[in-house]
Amino acid sequence: MIKAMVHRIREVMIVLVVAVYVKATGAKPYWSWASVSPEDESYCLSWRLAVEANNVRGWRTVPPQCMGDIENYMVGGQYFRDLHFLVDLILSYANEIVLSDDRMDAWILDVDDTCISNLFYYKGKRYGCDPYDPAGFKAWAMRGVCPAIPSVLSLFNKLIDSGFKVFLVTGRDEETLGQATTDNLHDQGFVGYERLILRTAAYRGQSAVKYKSQIRKQLSEQGYRIWGNVGDQWSDLQGEYLGNRTFKLPNPMYFVP
Ligand SMILES: [Mg+2]
Repeated sequence: MIKAMVHRIREVMIVLVVAVYVKATGAKPYWSWASVSPEDESYCLSWRLAVEANNVRGWRTVPPQCMGDIENYMVGGQYFRDLHFLVDLILSYANEIVLSDDRMDAWILDVDDTCISNLFYYKGKRYGCDPYDPAGFKAWAMRGVCPAIPSVLSLFNKLIDSGFKVFLVTGRDEETLGQATTDNLHDQGFVGYERLILRTAAYRGQSAVKYKSQIRKQLSEQGYRIWGNVGDQWSDLQGEYLGNRTFKLPNPMYFVP
C-alpha cells in the first residue's frame, strides 16, 4: 500500500518537473499528441519507418522533401549497416537448422535490391522521388551492371556452402531480361544457385504476391522445404507457401505491389 503511494507520488513529481521544463523552455514534450507535419524535421524518419513496417502501402513516389533523407540513408552507410545486421540475424537462424540428407532444404532470395542493387539507377530517379519508369528500368536492367549487395552475396555463399538449395525468384520478365539477369548475377559472383526463376508469359500481369506464391507452391510440391525467404519488398514475403521464416530487407525507394 505504502509502496504504491510512493510510486504514485514519484510519477506525479516526474510529470510536474517535465511540465515546468516544457513551460520554461517551450519545448515540445516527447509524448506530444500533435500530429507530425510533412514539414517537420522528423517526418521523413517516421515515413521511412512506416514504409519498412508495411504501414504505408501502395505508395508511388518518395515524398519530395524526403529525398535528402533517403539519399543519406542509402549512401551514407546506414543502409549497408542495416543489411549487415540483418544478414547476421539470418545466418544465426540458418546455422541452427539441421539439414536432411535428401538435399531438399531450400532458401528463396529475391533478386532486385536483395542480391543485386539498383541504387545507381535510383540515384538518377532522385532516390524514388520520380515515378516508376518501366522503359528506363528495363534499359538499366538490360545493361546487366547491377552490383552485388556484398552482405547478401556473403549470405548466398554461406547458404550454399551449408548445403541449402538456393532459388532466386524475381518478377523480371524472362523473355526480355532473362539473359541479362543471368549474366549480371554470374558476373557479380552469384554462382551455384539451384535455379533462377523469372516471370514467364503465363504470369504476366499478376501481382508479385500472386506470382511468387505460385512459384513457392510449385517448389513446395516438388518436395523442397523452404526454410527462409528474403526480399526487399513485402510482396516477396506475403501470400502462400512463405517458408519457415521471412526476412524483410530495407528499401525506401520504391514499392512493388
Ligand atoms: Mg526486390
